[in-house]
Amino acid sequence: MSIADNLLKYKNELEAQGVKLVAVSKNHPPESVLEAYHAGQRVFGENLVQEMVDKQAQLPQDIEWHLIGHLQSNKVKYIAPFVKLIESVDSLKLLKEINKQAIKHNRIIDCLLQIYIADEESKFGLDFDEAVELLRSEEFAELKNVRIIGLMGIATNTAQEKQTSIEFNELKVLFEGIKVSFFRKEESFREISMGMSSDYKLAIAEGSTMVRIGSNIFGKRVIKHWKNKES
Ligand SMILES: *Cc1c(COP(=O)(O)O)cnc(C)c1O
Repeated sequence: MSIADNLLKYKNELEAQGVKLVAVSKNHPPESVLEAYHAGQRVFGENLVQEMVDKQAQLPQDIEWHLIGHLQSNKVKYIAPFVKLIESVDSLKLLKEINKQAIKHNRIIDCLLQIYIADEESKFGLDFDEAVELLRSEEFAELKNVRIIGLMGIATNTAQEKQTSIEFNELKVLFEGIKVSFFRKEESFREISMGMSSDYKLAIAEGSTMVRIGSNIFGKRVIKHWKNKES
């Protein structure tokens, strides 16, 4: 099936359940993004700052770009003018830098706190206690140009569906707890970004509001950065 066919299949399936689709276009060329765009998709996810900046410059300006990969503080400035949602906030230090850059551009930048739910060493994110500590801190209370609209998590890469479901459920439970404790009055705190190509159905069953799907739409990722293909 073509990218457009895949996109429409997921878009229809997810919209029927009230779940937002982030089409993860990392490692795929701008032409592929455009094909999904013409099929009606507006929200795209990238995990590298440089790749997102390159694509943003040459693709339609009404695309909503989500940064879904680990973000270094010194790179926030490149995406601050346009990024729609930073899904991978994993420290107060990073959040302070996002706030600083948002002020420069006279914006309020929406963010998700990335929570560590996987049983794997390599995944970034805050653990439950760290997330609560961040939200309780006076420094966080002073940040007026960032808005936390929810949580994001990546489950363990495993065929054990039971484990995956348990991890997604943990994120859902934490989300509810944080909502009651810190965002009781803020309706904007409502997103749980969980689920990828292999596990989005399990994520939705556990309360996901936003899934990040890459390979099921765009096909297998080429190993190299798409720009290197010409050289
Ligand atoms: C790559 C990536 C995805 C999409 O993964 P697929 O398995 O291709 O759907 C989702 N979330 C994050 C954080 C990613 O880095």
